[in-house]
Amino acid sequence: MTAAAEAAISNVPDAAGHFGPYGGRYVPETLVYPLQELEREYFRCQQDPEFQRELSYYLREFVGRPTPLYFAERLTRELGGAKIYLKREDLLHTGAHKINNALGQALIAKRMNKTRVIAETGAGQHGVATATVAAMFGLQCVIYMGAVDCERQALNVYRMKMLGADVVPVHAGQRTLKEAVNEAMRDWVTNVRHTHYILGTAYGAHPYPVMVRNFHRIIGEEARAQILAQEQRLPDLLLACVGGGSNAIGLFHAFLEDPKVRMCGVEAGGLGIVPEKHAARFHGGSLGVLQGTRSYILQDDHGQIQLTHSVSAGLDYAAVGPEHAWLHDQGRVEYTYATDDKALEAFTRLARLEGIIPALESSHAVAEAIRRAPEMPKDALMIVNLSGRGDKDVAQVAARLNLAMPV
Ligand SMILES: *Cc1c(COP(=O)(O)O)cnc(C)c1O
Repeated sequence: MTAAAEAAISNVPDAAGHFGPYGGRYVPETLVYPLQELEREYFRCQQDPEFQRELSYYLREFVGRPTPLYFAERLTRELGGAKIYLKREDLLHTGAHKINNALGQALIAKRMNKTRVIAETGAGQHGVATATVAAMFGLQCVIYMGAVDCERQALNVYRMKMLGADVVPVHAGQRTLKEAVNEAMRDWVTNVRHTHYILGTAYGAHPYPVMVRNFHRIIGEEARAQILAQEQRLPDLLLACVGGGSNAIGLFHAFLEDPKVRMCGVEAGGLGIVPEKHAARFHGGSLGVLQGTRSYILQDDHGQIQLTHSVSAGLDYAAVGPEHAWLHDQGRVEYTYATDDKALEAFTRLARLEGIIPALESSHAVAEAIRRAPEMPKDALMIVNLSGRGDKDVAQVAARLNLAMPV
């Protein structure tokens, strides 16, 4: 990394939400005003000590922060290389990192006197987090979810309904996450006077990528203080899975200006790097615009968005957050992928060696840890972001592993 690149990294995004050539605001006219209103309110909240105090209070008392930085002793011993630490976002209320952002945005919605929140969801984790904070604050809540995902993640649909949210199945197109985002945007344009759209990842039109990143920055801030307390030095390597990119940027951000800390984002390799069989945007994607922002996108020669595949619904998206595109081009963060098979193997291994059932998304980061740790010296330190717990994936994994019910 050059000194110029180093200096540039700490200065993104610019006032219009550009991360170098990425990001920005590519939306229909009707969405410009709501985005400007949100941008103003968000930056006001960010400067407001009362808002920050309220956010900290709920993060501690309701969400369950700080999360432990846990030394995975048996996994480390078995691999025989670097010491592996797990950042335990799986222990947060509702079971994944998503609630850090859902809570922050719900507080902003309250400030803006909005009485209704909406969200898109893929695997259902963001929908559950949004339904949860909406119930807690007494906000009306509607969640858009692809009809295919509703079936795949029925447990989370029931959770959202029990929390009082309306879940609207989306039957357009591929009937998954991308179509759910489209429906949420349509709703927002129509109902913006009393509705806030809680977007679930570090993606979309400005200010979403920077706002969502900032609500997740606490992951890395905690991890940095924890590793310094436990090991008296910074880690050598950070690993996190990358869907839209929120848990990864949340962990990475606090370390970006420490040039010795290497970072690697792990995308969904699916069945391998063949068109429509994966969701690894840095391995087959190209520059394009999708759902409000400019980034690396999986598209065909005519600019049509390609189908994607991953065993984990949360990583199954054709585009990646613009800050990751920027960090990729700067060479600051490396991006690799793990296939479905490797993720499943990591899922089982972590469960048996550590007593922790990880989300299939997080299992992609664990897979990369398993690959790399043996090649690293024993005194090297690695932090893996365990973005969520695997309860939602248990039925799917059981079916794939042919586990029989005892009778
Ligand atoms: C949603 C989700 C992801 C992927 O989203 P990012 O924005 O890339 O973090 C990863 N892990 C879990 C557990 C999720 O629920």
